[in-house]
Amino acid sequence: MSAPVDNLMMDYPLTITQFFERSRRLWAKKVLSTRVPGQPLFRYTYADFAARTQRLAGGLTALGMRRGDRVATLAWNSHRHLELYWAIPLMGGVLHTLNFRLAPRDLTYIVNHARDTIVFCDASTWPVLDTIRKDCPSIRTIVVMKDTPEAPVPPGALEYESLLASATPAAAWPQLAETQAAAMCYTSGTTGNPKGVVYTHRAIYLHCLAESMTDTMALSERDVILHIVPMFHANAWCVPFAAVMLGATQIFGGPNPQPRDIAGIVQAEKVTFVGAVPTVWIAVKELVEKEGYDISSIRMIPSGGSAVPPSLMDVFEKKFGASMMHAWGMTEMTPLGTISRLKSYMRDLPDAEQLAIRAKQGYAAAGVDLRVADEHGREAPWDGTTMGEIQVRGPWILKSYYDAPESADRFTPDGWFRTGDLATIDAEGYIQITDRTKDVIKSGGEFMSSVALESLIMGHPDVLEAAVIAVPHPKWIERPLACVVPKAEAKGRLTEGDIIEFLRPQVAKWMLPDEVVFIDAVPKTGVGKFDKKVLRERYKGWQAKDG
Ligand code: ADP
Repeated sequence: MSAPVDNLMMDYPLTITQFFERSRRLWAKKVLSTRVPGQPLFRYTYADFAARTQRLAGGLTALGMRRGDRVATLAWNSHRHLELYWAIPLMGGVLHTLNFRLAPRDLTYIVNHARDTIVFCDASTWPVLDTIRKDCPSIRTIVVMKDTPEAPVPPGALEYESLLASATPAAAWPQLAETQAAAMCYTSGTTGNPKGVVYTHRAIYLHCLAESMTDTMALSERDVILHIVPMFHANAWCVPFAAVMLGATQIFGGPNPQPRDIAGIVQAEKVTFVGAVPTVWIAVKELVEKEGYDISSIRMIPSGGSAVPPSLMDVFEKKFGASMMHAWGMTEMTPLGTISRLKSYMRDLPDAEQLAIRAKQGYAAAGVDLRVADEHGREAPWDGTTMGEIQVRGPWILKSYYDAPESADRFTPDGWFRTGDLATIDAEGYIQITDRTKDVIKSGGEFMSSVALESLIMGHPDVLEAAVIAVPHPKWIERPLACVVPKAEAKGRLTEGDIIEFLRPQVAKWMLPDEVVFIDAVPKTGVGKFDKKVLRERYKGWQAKDG
């Protein structure tokens, strides 16, 4: 009988401890910094970061954190937040990032549901915590980080730097299983209560490798990364984890970064990689066009969270020399799902065709199984026109929400996660999101994509932003209403007719919005996406012109 051939490789756990230890040894001289309003960037080295993370880990033990305890952060992007990103999971705790822009009611629900025990908050976000803490009995310790030098520490709270100063650095990391929880994040709960997603060490480990691949974000030690995606949002797309693994130079955006801060840092620090949702880039584009910053050091702007208008990608690339890449994902997916890169044989296509492909959300990243399916799980043909729900499987996709048995219907019987996003998939495997199930417009028997209309309207030179929602219609059931924000210089000049005539040659007749309303700004969610819930509420009694 021959010797067994299977399973002769080590069962080495895929925990982020490996990344941290390697990073500590290799990248000691590399630099991390944080924007401090009104001051030069605060800078320190990876050696400082590692030493402070070890101290923080000792401090967490002193505060009584045990394995599996949820430790919350309520903070802007900073080097301190990065220390928490690492120290908590390295010690076996669960980093629970809280979005301080949520309504107090939702935030209270989330803290109580997760049973957070310790909360680290910035002095500038303290008022949010102060509002809810009396209703959150699980919180036993609050640690305040002075994100501006003069910030006071509220009575009863500990101060972050004092905690570090008095702590004994952790001498060794505990042995953790790769399935152990490392981090946690709640989705914003567009229907029902917010739901918790718990990332295992293994999911983060594999996701870091996947997003560093050349054919995804090509992250590397050579990158200078500016963190603008909030660290409370889907692990800031996991980039702070991957960047430490790689030893990249990192700059944290600090409290409330504005377009001028972003463009200024990019120019001064020669940033090569900076992600953010499209609404941020719309504002940066306006500023750079007016004031002429040099942002050509950027090799990649990953953008997603909502559809990136192709016109925006075009300006960044052609005018500013900063390449934008469209990606799709969700909190439930750690978050990477697809990335829109041209295949090598598409490089010779005419410019407009290349842009049209890159404006799609892209094809599945290696490691993600993806199908567009009808309600029975039947896969849609790869024809670029049949619409279905995107369903996914993979090692960094949740198999269950935290303590939410009512969400079992988000999974198919054969083990796929139902994303709630509607899309088409073309012959090359590129998906195009047509809507979230709740945003799609049902006009007559046809489904109409609000996202497609928005992207087109935002291509009008006088338009700053546009959101399209469904309004009830007696004959057609629903019709699209376009809510348009004109650029400052076009206010009062831009008309409904201008928008309709601009769209007419680009869409089928039945897709033309019946009406256009001009508004001052599109309401945004806590993470800067268009909040169509608010618009739907505002226009819920809307009477269609011909209705
Ligand atoms: P939230 O529910 O708070 O928006 P997520 O950040 O997890 O939470 O949002 C994920 C959703 O964002 C996806 O399900 C999808 O609807 C939308 N989305 C993400 N990326 C894109 C993209 N590139 N284009 C269109 N929609 C996107």
